[in-house]
Amino acid sequence: MEKITVRVPGKINLTLDILGRFANGYHDLQMVMSSVSLYDEITLVKKEEKNISVTVDKRDLPVDERNLAYRAAALLMEEFALTGGVEIAIKKQIPIAAGMAGGSADAAGVLKGMNSLFELGLELPELQKRGLTLGADVPFCLLGGCALAEGVGERLTPLEPLPRAYLVLAKPDFAVSTPWAFAQWDKEPTKERPDLAGMLAGIKEGDIRQIAAKLGNVLEGVTGREYPVVWAIKEKMKEYGALNALMTGSGPTVFGIYTELEQAKRAHTVIKESRMAGEVHVVKLGEWEEGR
Ligand code: ATP
Repeated sequence: MEKITVRVPGKINLTLDILGRFANGYHDLQMVMSSVSLYDEITLVKKEEKNISVTVDKRDLPVDERNLAYRAAALLMEEFALTGGVEIAIKKQIPIAAGMAGGSADAAGVLKGMNSLFELGLELPELQKRGLTLGADVPFCLLGGCALAEGVGERLTPLEPLPRAYLVLAKPDFAVSTPWAFAQWDKEPTKERPDLAGMLAGIKEGDIRQIAAKLGNVLEGVTGREYPVVWAIKEKMKEYGALNALMTGSGPTVFGIYTELEQAKRAHTVIKESRMAGEVHVVKLGEWEEGR
């Protein structure tokens, strides 16, 4: 095989809680995460020269070792002393610096793709172990679906597939730095915490209303205080039929949960026209197929 294309989904947080901090400074997290049907597409082509080249169809992204996809390829090339190199072409749909783990998804795609392309024979846990050295969300991106992520995000417990629902995703036109958001939270931790037990019960029962009712993210207050458009988008989503809405990760992307596609499309139009967010998408919560 000379070439492979993999699609990797973005993620949202249904919950995000910070339990404390480890001695190494990383935060001890508890998060329920789900894949959504918004994908980056990564094509890998073997080449004879022993180097890595990256192209991305969006501006403003580095294509050198600062790109997580590059780092994932470098890691495997070195460890397995691969003779040739690899060309990586990334088509991005996942918004950048948006709380949707776009960089981690690309790293996961490269690890999976190179594992097949170079016949490395690594199993999922072995890929995840390597992925964790690149970023805390990479192990989840390799797993996909819906899962409880604990520790820095590496302790994963797969959960039942979520009931069918649509999301409107809206990313305002600015980036939020994840380290900034955590640093702000450290200065002023929030008292209100997500109800994890309630969320897990909702997922177990396949009850989308309960799941929507239990959305919670302790970083939402941090980013929302600095960028009140986060609150405004949430309100608009609910006004137009969302069961509930939440900011994902450290933001600034906000998602609303809808049971009806038509409602989601209507909300999409309204938010797009309001200019509160430049990037607005209707996607599926999870990766279920229509008509099944
Ligand atoms: P998370 O939800 O894990 O916090 P995020 O959605 O906030 O992730 P990313 O889109 O992963 O953030 O990007 C964060 C930073 O990482 C960007 O500023 C970008 O320059 C850098 N980066 C490196 N490689 C990539 C990549 N392949 N795709 C997107 N961003 C990348």
